[in-house]
Amino acid sequence: MQVRLEQLTKAFESRKKDSVIAVNKLDLTIESGKLIGLLGPSGCGKSTTLFMVAGIHDVTDGKIYFDDRDVTELSADKRGIGLVFQNYALYPHLSVWDNIAFPLLNSKDMKKRLKKQFAEQHSNSPNYKAYINKLVEDAAKLVEITAYLDRKPGELSGGQQQRVAIARAIVKSPSILLMDEPLSNLDARLRIQTRDEIKRIQQQTGITTIMVTHDQEEALAISDEVIVLKDGLLQQQGAPQDVYDNPANQFVAEFISRSQINMVHGKIATNKLYLGQEEWFPLPAPLMDQEVTIGLRYENIKHAMENIERSFTASVTAKARIGGISTVQVRLADGQQITLLNDHDESLRESERLNLVVKPQSILVFNQK
Ligand code: ADP
Repeated sequence: MQVRLEQLTKAFESRKKDSVIAVNKLDLTIESGKLIGLLGPSGCGKSTTLFMVAGIHDVTDGKIYFDDRDVTELSADKRGIGLVFQNYALYPHLSVWDNIAFPLLNSKDMKKRLKKQFAEQHSNSPNYKAYINKLVEDAAKLVEITAYLDRKPGELSGGQQQRVAIARAIVKSPSILLMDEPLSNLDARLRIQTRDEIKRIQQQTGITTIMVTHDQEEALAISDEVIVLKDGLLQQQGAPQDVYDNPANQFVAEFISRSQINMVHGKIATNKLYLGQEEWFPLPAPLMDQEVTIGLRYENIKHAMENIERSFTASVTAKARIGGISTVQVRLADGQQITLLNDHDESLRESERLNLVVKPQSILVFNQK
Protein backbone atom coordinates (compact mmCIF):
# COMPACT_ATOMS: atom_id res chain seq x y z
CA MET A 1 0.00 0.00 0.00
CA GLN A 2 1.24 3.48 -0.88
CA VAL A 3 1.53 6.07 1.91
CA ARG A 4 1.20 9.73 0.99
CA LEU A 5 1.61 12.68 3.32
CA GLU A 6 0.39 16.10 2.24
CA GLN A 7 1.57 19.14 4.18
CA LEU A 8 1.50 17.02 7.32
CA THR A 9 2.01 19.18 10.40
CA LYS A 10 2.05 18.59 14.13
CA ALA A 11 2.30 21.32 16.73
CA PHE A 12 2.49 20.49 20.43
CA GLU A 13 1.27 23.18 22.79
CA SER A 14 3.83 23.87 25.46
CA ARG A 15 3.18 25.31 28.90
CA LYS A 16 4.99 28.49 27.94
CA LYS A 17 2.36 29.20 25.30
CA ASP A 18 4.63 29.05 22.26
CA SER A 19 4.01 25.71 20.58
CA VAL A 20 6.63 23.29 19.28
CA ILE A 21 6.28 22.47 15.59
CA ALA A 22 7.43 18.85 15.69
CA VAL A 23 6.55 18.13 12.05
CA ASN A 24 6.38 20.94 9.54
CA LYS A 25 4.42 20.67 6.28
CA LEU A 26 5.77 17.30 5.32
CA ASP A 27 5.09 16.23 1.73
CA LEU A 28 6.07 12.63 1.06
CA THR A 29 5.16 9.63 -1.02
CA ILE A 30 6.22 6.16 0.05
CA GLU A 31 5.67 3.61 -2.67
CA SER A 32 3.98 0.31 -1.98
CA GLY A 33 6.19 -2.56 -0.81
CA LYS A 34 9.20 -0.43 0.10
CA LEU A 35 11.26 -0.50 3.27
CA ILE A 36 11.82 3.09 4.33
CA GLY A 37 14.32 4.33 6.90
CA LEU A 38 12.96 7.50 8.54
CA LEU A 39 16.11 9.13 9.73
CA GLY A 40 17.37 12.17 11.57
CA PRO A 41 18.81 13.33 14.90
CA SER A 42 16.90 13.04 18.14
CA GLY A 43 13.96 15.43 18.32
CA CYS A 44 13.64 16.00 14.55
CA GLY A 45 10.07 14.66 14.42
CA LYS A 46 10.51 11.03 13.32
CA SER A 47 8.35 9.41 16.00
CA THR A 48 5.72 12.13 15.75
CA THR A 49 5.47 11.48 11.99
CA LEU A 50 5.20 7.73 12.58
CA PHE A 51 2.55 8.17 15.26
CA MET A 52 0.47 10.37 12.99
CA VAL A 53 0.65 7.74 10.24
CA ALA A 54 -0.34 5.17 12.88
CA GLY A 55 -3.29 7.26 14.05
CA ILE A 56 -1.93 7.53 17.60
CA HIS A 57 -1.38 11.29 17.29
CA ASP A 58 -3.98 13.59 15.75
CA VAL A 59 -2.64 15.80 13.00
CA THR A 60 -2.58 19.58 13.45
CA ASP A 61 -2.79 20.13 9.73
CA GLY A 62 -2.39 18.24 6.48
CA LYS A 63 -3.53 14.89 5.15
CA ILE A 64 -2.52 11.24 5.26
CA TYR A 65 -3.51 8.94 2.40
CA PHE A 66 -3.16 5.16 2.20
CA ASP A 67 -3.36 4.59 -1.55
CA ASP A 68 -6.20 6.94 -2.54
CA ARG A 69 -8.01 6.71 0.77
CA ASP A 70 -7.87 9.70 3.13
CA VAL A 71 -7.19 8.14 6.55
CA THR A 72 -6.39 11.39 8.39
CA GLU A 73 -9.41 11.13 10.66
CA LEU A 74 -9.52 7.33 10.88
CA SER A 75 -8.85 5.75 14.29
CA ALA A 76 -5.67 3.70 14.72
CA ASP A 77 -7.44 0.32 14.92
CA LYS A 78 -9.14 0.89 11.57
CA ARG A 79 -5.99 1.75 9.62
CA GLY A 80 -4.72 -1.79 9.10
CA ILE A 81 -1.25 -1.10 10.43
CA GLY A 82 1.18 -3.13 12.51
CA LEU A 83 3.26 -1.32 15.11
CA VAL A 84 6.58 -2.31 16.65
CA PHE A 85 8.05 -0.29 19.50
CA GLN A 86 11.54 0.17 20.83
CA ASN A 87 10.72 -1.51 24.16
CA TYR A 88 8.82 -4.44 22.55
CA ALA A 89 5.71 -3.68 24.68
CA LEU A 90 4.89 -7.37 25.17
CA TYR A 91 2.49 -8.58 27.86
CA PRO A 92 4.81 -10.14 30.45
CA HIS A 93 2.18 -12.44 31.99
CA LEU A 94 1.15 -13.95 28.64
CA SER A 95 2.97 -16.66 26.72
CA VAL A 96 4.58 -15.89 23.37
CA TRP A 97 1.65 -17.62 21.63
CA ASP A 98 -0.86 -15.48 23.55
CA ASN A 99 1.10 -12.32 22.83
CA ILE A 100 1.11 -12.99 19.10
CA ALA A 101 -2.56 -14.03 19.09
CA PHE A 102 -3.60 -10.98 21.14
CA PRO A 103 -4.51 -8.67 18.25
CA LEU A 104 -6.52 -11.47 16.61
CA LEU A 105 -8.57 -12.25 19.70
CA ASN A 106 -9.10 -8.83 21.25
CA SER A 107 -10.53 -6.64 18.55
CA LYS A 108 -14.13 -6.89 17.39
CA ASP A 109 -13.26 -5.68 13.90
CA MET A 110 -10.45 -8.19 13.60
CA LYS A 111 -12.64 -11.06 14.81
CA LYS A 112 -15.27 -10.15 12.24
CA ARG A 113 -12.68 -10.04 9.48
CA LEU A 114 -11.14 -13.36 10.50
CA LYS A 115 -14.50 -15.12 10.80
CA LYS A 116 -15.31 -13.94 7.30
CA GLN A 117 -11.96 -15.09 5.99
CA PHE A 118 -12.41 -18.44 7.70
CA ALA A 119 -15.92 -18.80 6.26
CA GLU A 120 -14.54 -18.11 2.81
CA GLN A 121 -12.02 -20.78 3.76
CA HIS A 122 -8.82 -19.77 2.12
CA SER A 123 -7.08 -21.87 4.76
CA ASN A 124 -7.20 -25.63 5.12
CA SER A 125 -7.95 -25.46 8.84
CA PRO A 126 -10.65 -27.84 10.13
CA ASN A 127 -12.13 -25.28 12.54
CA TYR A 128 -11.82 -21.61 13.54
CA LYS A 129 -9.53 -22.33 16.51
CA ALA A 130 -7.14 -24.25 14.29
CA TYR A 131 -7.29 -21.37 11.80
CA ILE A 132 -6.18 -18.86 14.47
CA ASN A 133 -3.48 -21.24 15.58
CA LYS A 134 -2.19 -21.49 12.04
CA LEU A 135 -2.02 -17.70 11.69
CA VAL A 136 -0.02 -17.47 14.93
CA GLU A 137 2.28 -20.31 13.90
CA ASP A 138 2.86 -18.83 10.45
CA ALA A 139 3.86 -15.49 11.99
CA ALA A 140 6.11 -17.25 14.53
CA LYS A 141 7.70 -19.25 11.74
CA LEU A 142 8.39 -16.14 9.70
CA VAL A 143 10.35 -14.57 12.55
CA GLU A 144 11.83 -17.95 13.59
CA ILE A 145 10.54 -18.22 17.14
CA THR A 146 8.37 -21.36 16.87
CA ALA A 147 10.49 -23.06 19.54
CA TYR A 148 9.50 -20.48 22.17
CA LEU A 149 5.72 -20.28 21.79
CA ASP A 150 5.08 -21.58 25.32
CA ARG A 151 7.57 -19.29 27.03
CA LYS A 152 6.91 -15.98 28.71
CA PRO A 153 8.65 -12.86 27.28
CA GLY A 154 10.87 -12.65 30.39
CA GLU A 155 12.40 -16.00 29.44
CA LEU A 156 13.61 -14.67 26.08
CA SER A 157 16.57 -12.53 25.02
CA GLY A 158 15.98 -8.95 23.82
CA GLY A 159 16.38 -10.01 20.19
CA GLN A 160 13.87 -12.85 20.60
CA GLN A 161 11.40 -10.50 22.33
CA GLN A 162 11.65 -8.07 19.45
CA ARG A 163 10.89 -10.94 17.04
CA VAL A 164 7.76 -11.73 19.06
CA ALA A 165 6.76 -8.07 18.80
CA ILE A 166 7.27 -8.22 15.02
CA ALA A 167 5.23 -11.44 14.80
CA ARG A 168 2.43 -9.76 16.79
CA ALA A 169 2.50 -6.82 14.38
CA ILE A 170 2.36 -8.93 11.22
CA VAL A 171 -0.04 -11.68 12.35
CA LYS A 172 -3.02 -9.55 11.34
CA SER A 173 -1.61 -9.06 7.81
CA PRO A 174 -1.27 -5.29 8.06
CA SER A 175 -0.95 -3.22 4.91
CA ILE A 176 1.70 -1.08 6.54
CA LEU A 177 4.28 -1.92 9.19
CA LEU A 178 5.51 0.93 11.37
CA MET A 179 8.59 0.47 13.55
CA ASP A 180 9.80 3.01 16.09
CA GLU A 181 13.52 2.52 16.80
CA PRO A 182 13.05 -1.28 16.85
CA LEU A 183 16.75 -2.03 17.32
CA SER A 184 17.92 0.54 19.82
CA ASN A 185 17.46 -1.67 22.90
CA LEU A 186 19.62 -4.44 21.45
CA ASP A 187 23.36 -4.84 21.84
CA ALA A 188 25.60 -4.18 18.82
CA ARG A 189 25.81 -7.78 17.59
CA LEU A 190 22.08 -8.46 17.94
CA ARG A 191 21.30 -5.14 16.33
CA ILE A 192 22.99 -6.16 13.11
CA GLN A 193 21.41 -9.62 13.17
CA THR A 194 17.90 -8.29 13.88
CA ARG A 195 18.34 -5.52 11.31
CA ASP A 196 19.04 -8.12 8.64
CA GLU A 197 16.06 -10.15 9.88
CA ILE A 198 13.78 -7.13 9.45
CA LYS A 199 15.00 -6.82 5.87
CA ARG A 200 14.32 -10.51 5.20
CA ILE A 201 10.86 -10.41 6.80
CA GLN A 202 9.96 -7.26 4.89
CA GLN A 203 11.09 -8.77 1.60
CA GLN A 204 9.24 -12.01 2.28
CA THR A 205 5.97 -10.28 3.20
CA GLY A 206 6.24 -7.28 0.86
CA ILE A 207 4.54 -5.06 3.49
CA THR A 208 5.22 -1.33 3.07
CA THR A 209 7.41 -0.64 6.09
CA ILE A 210 8.54 2.59 7.75
CA MET A 211 11.34 2.18 10.27
CA VAL A 212 12.29 5.11 12.45
CA THR A 213 15.94 5.24 13.44
CA HIS A 214 18.51 7.82 14.48
CA ASP A 215 21.26 5.48 13.30
CA GLN A 216 22.21 6.29 9.73
CA GLU A 217 24.26 3.12 9.29
CA GLU A 218 21.25 1.01 10.24
CA ALA A 219 19.02 2.85 7.80
CA LEU A 220 21.54 2.78 4.96
CA ALA A 221 22.14 -0.95 5.40
CA ILE A 222 18.60 -2.17 4.86
CA SER A 223 16.37 0.59 3.47
CA ASP A 224 15.17 0.80 -0.11
CA GLU A 225 14.87 4.52 0.53
CA VAL A 226 15.80 6.86 3.34
CA ILE A 227 13.92 9.97 4.38
CA VAL A 228 15.99 12.51 6.29
CA LEU A 229 14.33 14.99 8.63
CA LYS A 230 15.71 17.94 10.56
CA ASP A 231 13.68 20.20 12.85
CA GLY A 232 10.47 18.69 11.51
CA LEU A 233 11.38 19.55 7.92
CA LEU A 234 12.05 17.14 5.08
CA GLN A 235 15.68 17.38 3.96
CA GLN A 236 15.87 14.61 1.39
CA GLN A 237 14.31 11.36 0.23
CA GLY A 238 16.06 8.82 -1.95
CA ALA A 239 17.90 5.54 -2.31
CA PRO A 240 20.70 5.31 0.28
CA GLN A 241 23.49 5.46 -2.28
CA ASP A 242 21.94 8.43 -4.09
CA VAL A 243 21.54 10.38 -0.87
CA TYR A 244 25.12 9.52 0.05
CA ASP A 245 26.50 10.54 -3.35
CA ASN A 246 24.32 13.61 -3.84
CA PRO A 247 23.31 15.01 -0.46
CA ALA A 248 20.84 17.87 -0.79
CA ASN A 249 22.65 20.04 1.73
CA GLN A 250 25.45 20.13 4.30
CA PHE A 251 23.28 18.69 7.03
CA VAL A 252 22.46 15.58 4.97
CA ALA A 253 26.09 15.22 3.89
CA GLU A 254 27.25 15.25 7.49
CA PHE A 255 24.46 13.01 8.73
CA ILE A 256 24.70 10.40 5.96
CA SER A 257 28.35 9.58 6.04
CA ARG A 258 30.17 6.33 6.65
CA SER A 259 33.06 8.11 8.24
CA GLN A 260 33.11 11.81 8.95
CA ILE A 261 33.29 14.67 6.56
CA ASN A 262 35.52 17.73 6.26
CA MET A 263 33.83 21.01 5.45
CA VAL A 264 36.39 23.41 4.03
CA HIS A 265 36.27 26.81 2.47
CA GLY A 266 36.51 27.19 -1.28
CA LYS A 267 35.24 29.28 -4.12
CA ILE A 268 34.03 29.14 -7.67
CA ALA A 269 35.64 31.62 -10.04
CA THR A 270 35.45 31.62 -13.82
CA ASN A 271 34.04 28.08 -13.80
CA LYS A 272 36.82 26.64 -11.74
CA LEU A 273 36.62 25.27 -8.23
CA TYR A 274 39.25 26.50 -5.79
CA LEU A 275 40.19 24.63 -2.64
CA GLY A 276 41.23 27.53 -0.42
CA GLN A 277 43.35 29.64 -2.74
CA GLU A 278 44.48 26.70 -4.86
CA GLU A 279 42.96 26.30 -8.30
CA TRP A 280 41.67 22.80 -8.37
CA PHE A 281 39.05 21.56 -10.83
CA PRO A 282 37.34 22.86 -13.90
CA LEU A 283 33.60 22.57 -13.27
CA PRO A 284 31.58 20.23 -15.50
CA ALA A 285 28.78 22.83 -15.79
CA PRO A 286 29.04 26.60 -15.49
CA LEU A 287 28.23 28.05 -12.08
CA MET A 288 28.10 31.59 -10.80
CA ASP A 289 31.25 32.94 -9.12
CA GLN A 290 30.74 32.54 -5.38
CA GLU A 291 32.22 31.46 -2.09
CA VAL A 292 31.36 27.82 -1.37
CA THR A 293 31.79 25.13 1.24
CA ILE A 294 33.47 21.99 -0.02
CA GLY A 295 32.59 18.66 1.61
CA LEU A 296 35.28 16.00 1.52
CA ARG A 297 34.55 12.70 3.22
CA TYR A 298 37.48 11.20 5.11
CA GLU A 299 37.22 7.98 3.15
CA ASN A 300 37.35 9.72 -0.23
CA ILE A 301 40.71 11.44 0.22
CA LYS A 302 43.57 9.25 -0.89
CA HIS A 303 47.34 9.44 -0.96
CA ALA A 304 48.73 9.95 -4.44
CA MET A 305 52.01 8.32 -5.23
CA GLU A 306 53.27 11.36 -7.04
CA ASN A 307 52.28 14.90 -7.80
CA ILE A 308 49.72 14.02 -10.45
CA GLU A 309 47.29 16.40 -12.03
CA ARG A 310 44.61 17.69 -9.66
CA SER A 311 46.36 16.40 -6.59
CA PHE A 312 47.02 18.81 -3.78
CA THR A 313 49.74 18.98 -1.22
CA ALA A 314 49.35 19.00 2.51
CA SER A 315 51.54 18.42 5.54
CA VAL A 316 50.81 16.03 8.36
CA THR A 317 49.90 17.72 11.64
CA ALA A 318 48.56 14.84 13.76
CA LYS A 319 47.60 11.19 13.75
CA ALA A 320 44.85 9.53 15.75
CA ARG A 321 43.48 6.06 16.27
CA ILE A 322 39.94 5.49 17.51
CA GLY A 323 38.85 1.87 17.77
CA GLY A 324 40.07 0.18 14.61
CA ILE A 325 40.09 3.39 12.60
CA SER A 326 43.25 5.33 12.03
CA THR A 327 43.14 8.91 10.79
CA VAL A 328 45.63 11.56 9.87
CA GLN A 329 45.13 15.29 10.07
CA VAL A 330 46.84 17.49 7.50
CA ARG A 331 47.24 21.19 6.82
CA LEU A 332 46.53 22.54 3.34
CA ALA A 333 48.61 25.24 1.67
CA ASP A 334 46.23 27.97 2.87
CA GLY A 335 46.25 26.74 6.46
CA GLN A 336 42.91 24.88 6.51
CA GLN A 337 43.01 21.52 8.26
CA ILE A 338 41.38 18.35 6.94
CA THR A 339 41.30 14.76 8.12
CA LEU A 340 41.52 11.56 6.09
CA LEU A 341 41.63 7.86 6.80
CA ASN A 342 45.13 6.59 7.28
CA ASP A 343 44.54 3.33 5.42
CA HIS A 344 48.00 2.07 4.71
CA ASP A 345 50.73 4.21 5.97
CA GLU A 346 51.42 3.82 9.67
CA SER A 347 54.88 5.33 9.19
CA LEU A 348 53.72 8.88 8.44
CA ARG A 349 55.66 11.47 10.39
CA GLU A 350 54.59 14.87 11.58
CA SER A 351 55.31 17.69 9.09
CA GLU A 352 55.71 15.12 6.31
CA ARG A 353 54.39 16.44 3.01
CA LEU A 354 51.76 14.38 1.23
CA ASN A 355 50.19 14.45 -2.17
CA LEU A 356 46.47 13.87 -1.89
CA VAL A 357 43.78 13.21 -4.47
CA VAL A 358 40.00 13.16 -4.43
CA LYS A 359 37.80 11.68 -7.14
CA PRO A 360 35.97 14.60 -8.74
CA GLN A 361 32.56 12.92 -8.33
CA SER A 362 33.05 12.60 -4.57
CA ILE A 363 33.61 16.35 -4.09
CA LEU A 364 30.51 17.93 -2.58
CA VAL A 365 29.98 21.62 -3.21
CA PHE A 366 27.51 23.61 -1.10
CA ASN A 367 26.35 27.18 -1.12
CA GLN A 368 27.69 29.01 1.86
CA LYS A 369 25.17 29.41 4.64
P1 ADP B 1 12.34 12.09 17.24
O1 ADP B 1 11.47 10.87 17.15
O2 ADP B 1 12.93 12.48 15.92
O3 ADP B 1 13.39 11.98 18.30
P2 ADP B 1 9.96 13.38 18.21
O4 ADP B 1 9.01 13.21 17.09
O5 ADP B 1 9.83 12.47 19.38
O6 ADP B 1 11.44 13.34 17.64
O7 ADP B 1 9.86 14.88 18.74
C1 ADP B 1 9.88 16.02 17.89
C2 ADP B 1 9.71 17.28 18.73
O8 ADP B 1 8.41 17.30 19.31
C3 ADP B 1 10.67 17.40 19.88
O9 ADP B 1 11.00 18.75 20.04
C4 ADP B 1 9.88 16.90 21.06
O10 ADP B 1 10.33 17.48 22.25
C5 ADP B 1 8.48 17.35 20.72
N1 ADP B 1 7.46 16.46 21.26
C6 ADP B 1 7.30 15.15 20.95
N2 ADP B 1 6.23 14.63 21.63
C7 ADP B 1 5.72 15.64 22.36
C8 ADP B 1 4.60 15.75 23.26
N3 ADP B 1 3.80 14.72 23.50
N4 ADP B 1 4.38 16.97 23.83
C9 ADP B 1 5.16 18.02 23.56
N5 ADP B 1 6.21 17.99 22.72
C10 ADP B 1 6.50 16.82 22.12
